[in-house]
Amino acid sequence: MPLPVLASDKTCTGCLACSNVCPAAAIVAAPRADGHTGISVDADRCIRCGRCERACPVVNGRPYGRQEAPGAALAAWANDDAVRRRGATAGIFGALASQFLREAGGFVAGAVMDGLRCRYILTSDLNDLPRLQGSKYMASDPGDIYRRVLSALKEGGRVLFCGVPCHVAGLLNVIPPRLQERLFTVDLICGGVSSPLLVDRFAEAHPDMTGIRSFRDKEEGWNPRGYRYRLQYIGADGSVIRMNPAVKNLVTDGFACELTDRHSCYRCRMAFPSRNSDLTIGDLWGDRRFTAQHRKGVSLVLVHSPKGEVLLTEAAIETAPVDPREALAGNSRIFNGDSAKRFFPERIFFPRLVRRLSFSALERVYAGRRDGASPLWLPFWAWRLISFRLAGMLRKATDRRLISRIFTERHTSSLNDTSEK
Ligand SMILES: Cc1cc2nc3c(=O)[nH]c(=O)nc-3n(C[C@H](O)[C@H](O)[C@H](O)COP(=O)(O)OP(=O)(O)OC[C@H]3O[C@@H](n4cnc5c(N)ncnc54)[C@H](O)[C@@H]3O)c2cc1C
Ligand code: SF4
Ligand code: SF4
Ligand code: SF4
Repeated sequence: MPLPVLASDKTCTGCLACSNVCPAAAIVAAPRADGHTGISVDADRCIRCGRCERACPVVNGRPYGRQEAPGAALAAWANDDAVRRRGATAGIFGALASQFLREAGGFVAGAVMDGLRCRYILTSDLNDLPRLQGSKYMASDPGDIYRRVLSALKEGGRVLFCGVPCHVAGLLNVIPPRLQERLFTVDLICGGVSSPLLVDRFAEAHPDMTGIRSFRDKEEGWNPRGYRYRLQYIGADGSVIRMNPAVKNLVTDGFACELTDRHSCYRCRMAFPSRNSDLTIGDLWGDRRFTAQHRKGVSLVLVHSPKGEVLLTEAAIETAPVDPREALAGNSRIFNGDSAKRFFPERIFFPRLVRRLSFSALERVYAGRRDGASPLWLPFWAWRLISFRLAGMLRKATDRRLISRIFTERHTSSLNDTSEK
């Protein structure tokens, strides 16, 4: 019998649905040269049962969504100011999780920082909420989270899972449909995940660093026109070191450059306005209506199912409908998962450059840091300017085409349509 055929290095999302369902522990997950998790099958252990192929969202042929307008698009924010402040955008995840954790049998699964790595936890403890909140702008490790969610559901619990869309896709393939009634899924609008090697190289240059506290800071307010990153890391004595946001760094600006993303992120197969999750949450970029709310953050919420509607109604969240076309136009990662940056030499040679370049050269190439650079860097900056502009123009052209297709073709998406769930 042949070995199972799983996603290739270029298409694998690292969701680990395959290893979560494997009865023989035959899936080996290990970091590749670019720092992202790669998958291989141990031929001696594999019993050729085919479960991994059926669970793999890339090879099993079931799409994660449709290029159709979502059931509803909402501007939203958490009513509790502390919850809202801790969230990367407007604390929607925090408000949903807080409601869930107060109910008997309620569990929440989400991503937390564990030292220099991001991984998922399952918890029923409200005290875990602060570390669950906030975006961790790097690749996260699902570990055996789907198995743990499965156990909680089998024991009669209700689970709220929040993560990047490819991990939600993996989860939905692992949990049998009969148990999905008590599973609520929230995915993020996802622009891609950067390599953990950026964090490792940053930590080598900052030997006192033991962990990351935050990647994005709302102390100076949220901004509907773009990100406001600010790295806060934890020092050896437990103190918090706040990086100057005016000086680019390898962790947050490296994430923003998108030149170390997982290969699958440059052709993301999960970028749909209408998805198999219950809710999608992200930033309401480009908003001009809710200006009084901007300082504290305004989220965009896409509702895909009646379960998603129930989640929103039960939680302490303020919502207002927005024009879905405008919302999508302001945030193209909802529906366009393609990026020309996969062809950039910086991405192609990243596995070699991350080991060979000095820390300061790495910061110039992968975080765009220019201060104090010698004039020898000028040709590189010229290339950077032109290549980013071209990639941006290409993306805008595709965005326009996709938007007009989504909103001009007849679509039947409705909150009552649960056929995909
Ligand atoms: C890697 C990444 C890329 C993103 N790209 C975009 C984008 O292009 N456009 C946009 O509008 N929004 C994007 N977001 C989403 C945005 O940053 C906010 O997370 C989102 O608006 C929810 O905000 P919140 O305040 O409701 O919840 P938050 O408190 O910010 O949400 C926290 C929850 O998000 C999940 N999460 C955080 N980091 C990770 C991670 N690395 N892997 C898996 N799950 C994680 C966890 O379950 C966590 O508990 C991205 C988020 C991440 C993590
Ligand atoms: S075919 Fe079965 S035993 Fe082999 S790797 Fe896949 S799930 Fe594991
Ligand atoms: S299940 Fe996920 S991790 Fe496994 S091969 Fe498929 S995409 Fe990769
Ligand atoms: S961009 Fe797509 S493939 Fe990459 S982490 Fe996000 S959902 Fe997964």
